[in-house]
Amino acid sequence: MAAKTLEKTEVHGNYIGGKLQKAKGGETFVSTSPANVDEVVGQFAASTPEDVTAAVDAAAKAYPEWKKTPAPERAELLLKAALLMETRKEEMAQTMVREMGKVIKEARGDVQEAIDMAKYMAGEGRRLFGHTTPSELRNKFAMAIRQPMGVVGVITPWNFPVAIPSWKILPALVSGNTIVFKPATDTPLCAQMFVQVLIDAGLPPGVINFVTGSGSKVGMPLVEDPRVRVISVTGSTQVGRQIAGRCGELMKKISCELGGKNAICVMDDADMDLVVEGALWGSFGTAGQRCTATSRIIVHKKRYKEFLERFEARTKALKIGNGLDPSVDVGPVVSKAQLESVHSYVDIGKKDGAKLVVGGNILDDGAMGKGCFHEPTVFADVKPGMRIAQEEIFGPITAVMPVESFEEAIQVANGTDYGLSLSMYTQDVNRAFTAIEELESGIVYINAPTIGAEIQLPFGGVKQTGNGHREAGITAIEQFTEWKSIYVDYSGKLQKAQIDTHNNQQ
Ligand code: NAP
Ligand code: MG
Repeated sequence: MAAKTLEKTEVHGNYIGGKLQKAKGGETFVSTSPANVDEVVGQFAASTPEDVTAAVDAAAKAYPEWKKTPAPERAELLLKAALLMETRKEEMAQTMVREMGKVIKEARGDVQEAIDMAKYMAGEGRRLFGHTTPSELRNKFAMAIRQPMGVVGVITPWNFPVAIPSWKILPALVSGNTIVFKPATDTPLCAQMFVQVLIDAGLPPGVINFVTGSGSKVGMPLVEDPRVRVISVTGSTQVGRQIAGRCGELMKKISCELGGKNAICVMDDADMDLVVEGALWGSFGTAGQRCTATSRIIVHKKRYKEFLERFEARTKALKIGNGLDPSVDVGPVVSKAQLESVHSYVDIGKKDGAKLVVGGNILDDGAMGKGCFHEPTVFADVKPGMRIAQEEIFGPITAVMPVESFEEAIQVANGTDYGLSLSMYTQDVNRAFTAIEELESGIVYINAPTIGAEIQLPFGGVKQTGNGHREAGITAIEQFTEWKSIYVDYSGKLQKAQIDTHNNQQ
């Protein structure tokens, strides 16, 4: 594909109150392709706090009418968005490959998740269930309903540049909130295409607002604006902690989906064909840049050698390259900065005494050098205390760790600060259910790798992975609604609850 020159590249504006607008300061930034960093994918508004204020103004203005719009009517627009996205799926997927590097099949999957989420949340427009419950008094009705909260601030990462925004924005919209969306600086074009779908589906002006720019100039001002009632952020634990801390001071609702250090456990009775396929997909899918990526493989000593030999051979055979080539298995990582960060773990692993068995290099020869390509890398004989067994690497590096028993596997799997996705390969139903019970993570897989969540189930993690919220599934609604409890007394007299009714009433 010919590189676009900067002069010819369209400048994409913010979308505020139904209008495309330049950043008030007039500054721009470029999004480039990780397969060739000289290729400019687009030029975007480098916004400032003033732009954020304008977007929150628009969202606050649109809120009362959107809140009053019946939920099934709001949901109709989401269904339209789903159908539109189906027609644009290939275009969006190709753009995603160019902008963030994941291979084309996975990019299609990313867009498909947003389509699925839009359909699922469209159905939610005719549910949004509250509950009724008996009153303790006669002739009195008690119920609790959900209400929207107002303006929601959405802050997203680059690794699922369409799916993750959809997990937040669609449930927030169907619940009756209005949105200010700040996407990752590495993937503004993907985010913009998703917003365009919602605009074309007919969302009224101001219901969704889109502001591009940095975490400090756009993200934090969005968190700080007193009219923004909820922040939903997916990103690193470091950034999540900073945002959650500020939201705590400001008494805002905040949901964080953060890092992971996910593991596959392989027992002595595991089906090794399944394990090897799963470990490859979990470790190197999306070049390891999934919050659920398999970055540890904990193997029973009886199968350790066999696993390692087969896994090494399969890893060496993976094809690395531009994700637009359908025969490529592993694309680039998202940026040169991320490449350096990922690669630094090769030295860290070696210094800590792990054995490098495959890969370990940045691919910088010829055309590959223009991109951000890192060899799929396997360390063996990794001990639980090593940094490569504890820290999120977010790239194509995985750590293979021997254990003596099922109990030790569970202990090692649980032995990090994170708790997003853990997996157990075994044929033994008793062990499988014990693992489901004892693994400390928001997601558990049996006989499948740590990646591959479906949108109709809750998604999120325990410990440092999050702050107790779950995205997707029916639980997504919880982030974006508040409960209102309602008592209707039709007795025609003053009835007093919470007192001793036997002595004082009737
Ligand atoms: P990141 O650097 O933490 O950034 C996430 C988002 O926060 C970006 O939009 C970023 O803006 C913004 N941001 C950065 N600093 C901010 C600040 N001080 N105030 C407000 N916003 C700020 O994460 P990333 O590198 O994009 O994504 C990778 C991380 O996301 C990994 O740790 C991964 O595990 C995690 N992740 C978690 C899940 C999950 O569901 N658990 C899913 C996917 C990814 P800029 O882009 O402008 O810096
Ligand atoms: Mg990029």
